[in-house]
Amino acid sequence: MKSLFLVAGATCVAGQYAAATLGNIGLTTVAGVEVYGDLGSNVDLPIGTNIVGPFEAGFSSMQDFILAGLGCETGKGYVAGGIDTNTAEQMVAKDCGVTLPRWEGNTFVSLIGTCGGHTRDYHFHEKFSCLYSQTGAHSTQVGQGYDGKFIYGMWEHTEEKEMPMLDACGGHWGPTPDSDEDTYHYHVQTGAPYTIGCYGPNPDNSLVTVEQCRALYPTCDGVLSTLETPTGSVQYDLYCPCFDANGSNTGVDIAPLPVFSTDAAKGPGGDSVVQNPSAGSSGSSASFGSFDKMGKDMGKDMGKDMGKDMGKDMGKDMGKDKKKIISCAVQRKLRTNHV
Ligand SMILES: [Zn+2]
Ligand SMILES: [Zn+2]
Repeated sequence: MKSLFLVAGATCVAGQYAAATLGNIGLTTVAGVEVYGDLGSNVDLPIGTNIVGPFEAGFSSMQDFILAGLGCETGKGYVAGGIDTNTAEQMVAKDCGVTLPRWEGNTFVSLIGTCGGHTRDYHFHEKFSCLYSQTGAHSTQVGQGYDGKFIYGMWEHTEEKEMPMLDACGGHWGPTPDSDEDTYHYHVQTGAPYTIGCYGPNPDNSLVTVEQCRALYPTCDGVLSTLETPTGSVQYDLYCPCFDANGSNTGVDIAPLPVFSTDAAKGPGGDSVVQNPSAGSSGSSASFGSFDKMGKDMGKDMGKDMGKDMGKDMGKDMGKDKKKIISCAVQRKLRTNHV
């Protein structure tokens, strides 16, 4: 993987485009260790570990060995491709009559390891929890998308437990531990797409709506499947990585992401807006009604100081030596197949 990295300095022009729905969407920029991975022992995760989008390619009899490890009888737990890992796991749980994820003694039984990736050909989908600390202000960098933009842990301010309001691509404008300037960057999210839904922002630097995200993907075709999970059935648009404020990707009655009720949606130079932890994060199935006001009132006052003052002090040392830049030209060639 080393040869894929080019020297710092390459930047990509602004402009949204589709990310691979099954291939890599980026690479990690820090190393970590998966402690209770699905291999049953620790797994070293070097810089350059693959990051793929939210979707699995589906489970069939070819995955019987994985499904057996989750507690499924042979022939159970098969799911279609194009379903995000959390939802796919809950479908397996329902079909196999088991609880996922679960601990069995010291073993974490889950489709996804505790750090957020899986399989022998380890790749991340979500969490990235072993790649950044849960202290300080703005989460530190965990990876880089193939658009050259960086991905950070889930917190806009860790100790205040504030999460950023993100666009449909999973990004927003603001200072980061690596930059005092307003920079478009992605965050890890608890709900799909978990990292990058698409490569943002819009060509005019405004944030990307769910509708704009959908327009990038022929697979966001509005052909819906009914998926069965332990908590009920959900409608789902397979291989569509554009999730609304209710965590739905159907394109039906799209609930606008909360950031679009704030000035931050217009682009850089606005205020960073955050949401408090009690209501979850974008992409998960929380209710965001109260954030309309919050974004406007609180975001303005709070976001700036937080991001600027605290991010400045903390981030710099941490980010150094860790980040590598991938050129845009190379990035587009790097869409490997998701196994
Ligand atoms: Zn996977
Ligand atoms: Zn941020």
